Amino acid sequence: MSTMTKQETEDLIQEVLEVYPEKAAKDRAKHLTANDQSVEKSSKCITSNRKSLPGVMTIRGCAYAGSRGVVWGPVKDMIHISHGPVGCGQYSRAGRRNYYVGTTGVNTFTTMNFTSDFQEKDIVFGGDKKLAKIIDEIEMLFPLNKGITVQSECPIGLIGDDIEAVSKTKAQEHGKTMVPVRCEGFRGVSQSLGHHIANDSIRDWVFPKSEGKAFEATDYDVTIIGDYNIGGDAWSSRILLEEMGLRVIAQWSGDGTLAEMENTPKAKLNLLHCYRSMNYISRYMEEKHGIPWMEYNFFGPTKIEEALRKIAERFDDKIKEGAERVIEKYRPQWQAVVDKYRPRLEGKRVMLYVGGLRPRHIIGAYEDLGMEVVGTGYEFAHNDDYDRTIQEMGNATLIYDDVTGYEFEEFVKRVKPDLIGSGIKEKYIFQKMGIPFRQMHSWDYSGPYHGYDGFAIFARDMDMTLNNPCWDAITPPWKRGSSDIAEAAE
Ligand code: SF4
Repeated sequence: MSTMTKQETEDLIQEVLEVYPEKAAKDRAKHLTANDQSVEKSSKCITSNRKSLPGVMTIRGCAYAGSRGVVWGPVKDMIHISHGPVGCGQYSRAGRRNYYVGTTGVNTFTTMNFTSDFQEKDIVFGGDKKLAKIIDEIEMLFPLNKGITVQSECPIGLIGDDIEAVSKTKAQEHGKTMVPVRCEGFRGVSQSLGHHIANDSIRDWVFPKSEGKAFEATDYDVTIIGDYNIGGDAWSSRILLEEMGLRVIAQWSGDGTLAEMENTPKAKLNLLHCYRSMNYISRYMEEKHGIPWMEYNFFGPTKIEEALRKIAERFDDKIKEGAERVIEKYRPQWQAVVDKYRPRLEGKRVMLYVGGLRPRHIIGAYEDLGMEVVGTGYEFAHNDDYDRTIQEMGNATLIYDDVTGYEFEEFVKRVKPDLIGSGIKEKYIFQKMGIPFRQMHSWDYSGPYHGYDGFAIFARDMDMTLNNPCWDAITPPWKRGSSDIAEAAE
């Protein structure tokens, strides 16, 4: 339960909106709400997946980022060409810390940047020939790659290059999978459409080729979908599933391979961690191949136990017993973590602003440590994400969609959380305000945070950040006298 009443939260939203021109205030009001658990459908109280307003500081990424950076990038034995000018690939290279096993540059390529480095002449005369040449060069220099994806940056769609034709020709010539991805950055309103486009490209260019391929199936074959192995997340999840007796035949896409993707339509159950980025392909496999899918949450012991039991319900007694065995095995481990850190973190209040599944999935892990999430929001959610969030958040807590830099700062000044979890663009602003901050996109260079092993690291990191004595050396503006603020502004 928030320390603010619903009326206070609503008043705060109105106050923050006052600074905007009328039209902008009206638009932004639809994206901000005081949580009400009695609302069944979030569309009644919040609007999402709309274009950001020109002039406000949005933290969103583009469709290219959603495809290259999220869905496709971690597939480690394929080479992903950032097709267009050099910057898009270079500035996004390796930022998400998708861990993988392999020899970089020989049989794995995740942290490398391959780009067609468009110049003016490519824009004027087209880049198809250059793309074909690059693919040939890649085949010569990195022959152990299992396939290539062409990740379109903005100009490709504008000049009308035929990346599909080039991919088809080169796939035949080299006998490999080549996937053209029409994820130009200008498409859609955020990285979210990039996820969808990337999912569709797997459906259209990967699955048809794997039909009829030999595969020795078992009754316990599952996949991990939507875990990008940030700091090793998928590994600390996979061991739990395997210990309970399941066989993980594919990881999408952290530390994943093309062969695993091809095997996925043979699974008995698709386990979906990041619903937002991978629900499309999961739904497709359900419709086309009859494979059920279910969401699960591996953040914090309470949610992990719940998830393990729910997963086990889909299988026989052997797996159900396996789940109970895993739960019992790890109980002393996580209890020791809670005993150590809960007294240091109890009662602390957190505000989150992240993407994908985190604004709702991490709440349980904080609660296991006695903390409360008093504000949360998504960069690129749709309303089905908010439907899933309403019940996780306390009544009257703040919910903000595509929050602007200004709004987030004002909310923080008024709510005064003890900890903020958000991205790199927000990190230094809030740290300079003297507020403990964790970068929750790539776990602030730490992790994993999934699974029981991840919970121990999560708890340590939150304690290390929150109880760090450095914050006492910085006084937030609202705790200073007005003369101090005037002095700082000079
Ligand atoms: S919006 Fe276009 S130019 Fe910018 S990073 Fe995305 S693909 Fe590149």
